[in-house]
Amino acid sequence: MKRIYLDNAATTAAAPEVVEAMLPYFTQVYGNASSIHATGREAKRAIEAARRQVARALNAAVPQEIYFTAGGSESDNWAIKGAACANRKKGDHVITTAIEHHAVLHTCQWLEKQGFRVTYLPVDADGKVSVSDVEKAITDKTILVSVMAANNEIGTLQPIKEIGALCRAKGVLFHTDAVQAVGAIPLDVQGMHIDLLSLSAHKFHGPKGVGALYVRKGVRLENLVHGGAQERGFRAGTENLPGIVGLGKAIEMAAEKLPENAARMSALRDRLIGGITARIPDVRLNGHPVDRLPNNCNMSFKYIEGEALLLRLDLAGVAGSSGSACTSGTLDPSHVLLAIGLPHAIAHGSLRLTLGTDTTEEDIDEVLERLPPIVQSLRAMSAMNASNML
Ligand SMILES: *Cc1c(COP(=O)(O)O)cnc(C)c1O
Repeated sequence: MKRIYLDNAATTAAAPEVVEAMLPYFTQVYGNASSIHATGREAKRAIEAARRQVARALNAAVPQEIYFTAGGSESDNWAIKGAACANRKKGDHVITTAIEHHAVLHTCQWLEKQGFRVTYLPVDADGKVSVSDVEKAITDKTILVSVMAANNEIGTLQPIKEIGALCRAKGVLFHTDAVQAVGAIPLDVQGMHIDLLSLSAHKFHGPKGVGALYVRKGVRLENLVHGGAQERGFRAGTENLPGIVGLGKAIEMAAEKLPENAARMSALRDRLIGGITARIPDVRLNGHPVDRLPNNCNMSFKYIEGEALLLRLDLAGVAGSSGSACTSGTLDPSHVLLAIGLPHAIAHGSLRLTLGTDTTEEDIDEVLERLPPIVQSLRAMSAMNASNML
C-alpha cells in the first residue's frame, strides 16, 4: 500500500536539490562565518548568497533587510516583541486576528502580561479579516498590526496588500506571518507595503529549524536573541550555515516554480474537494471557497470525530491532520474553526489535507477511494453508540 502524505502544512519533505546544496556545508565548508580565515570567509559568502536569494524571492529592496532565524516561531516572536519594545514610547496597542498561528497569538498574550493592549479582530465565516475592521481598530496608540498572509488550518488568504497600504498611511507597522504563503502565492514586500514578514524553510521543501524575518530598512526592532555580533548585531548565535544555504535554495526553487506549482496544486485540491463532496454526504468545506491556499483542503464531516478519522486514515496509509499539528493531542477544538463560527461538534469532525509539490493525481484518487468507507464506518459506529445510549 502506497503511503500518501497530505500534511504539508505541518511540514514538507526537503527537496533533493536542497539537501544536495546543503551537504558540503556540513563537512567541507564548515567554517564559522565570523572567522577571518578562508573557510570562514567561504561560509560568510554562502550566507550572503542565501540572503540575496531570499531578498529576491520577496522583492526586498536590499538583502540587508533579511535576517536569518531558527524558524517561523522565532521570526513571529521577534517581529512582535521586537516592534512592541522598540515603540513603547509611541504607544501600547497591538492589533492582530483571532485566527493567527499560536506563535503570534501566544506572543500577543505575553505582551498583554507586560502591559500592552491587544485587539484580536474577528473573521467572517470564510475566515477573512475585514480591512475596515482593521481601520476602525487603529488608534493613535497603535504601534503594530499583525495579520497572517494565509491561514495554516483553513487556507484562507487575507487582503494583505490593502491592510499594508492602510497601515503605511496611518504610520503603523505591519507584520505578516507568511509561513504558509511562501511558494504558494506571490509575495512582494514593497508592493504590499509590508514592514515585517516571517517565513520558515521547512514549509516550502527546505530544512527544519531555519527561517527568516524581513525587516524593512528603517524599521527599528529590539533584539530577541542577545549575544554575538551575527546578523549585524540583531540576532546573535553562530549561523546555521547548512540550514541557511538550504533555505536559500528552497526559496529560489519555490519562487521559480510558483505559477506552475500553484496551478497544478489548485487543480488537484479542487479534484479532492469535489471528489469528497460528491462521494460523502453531510460534509462542509472550511475556509474561503476561492481565496485559499492552492494546497489546502479542510472539511468537516458531520457525526464523526476528527481524531478517530485521522487514526483510521493513518492505518489506511493516508497522513492528514485534524487542525494544527501543534494543538492536536489536546481535546479543545481548533481556535480557527471556532472563530469562523463552527459549533464544537462540527469543529471536532474536521480533517485537513494539505498537498505538496510532489502530490500526484493518483495520490488524490487513492485518497478518494480510501476515505469514504472510513467515514461511513465511523458514522455507523457513532449512530450505533447514539442508539445504545437511548
Ligand atoms: C508552521 C507555522 C509557524 C511556525 O513555524 P516553525 O518554523 O515551525 O516555527 C508559524 N506560522 C504559521 C502560519 C505556520 O504554519
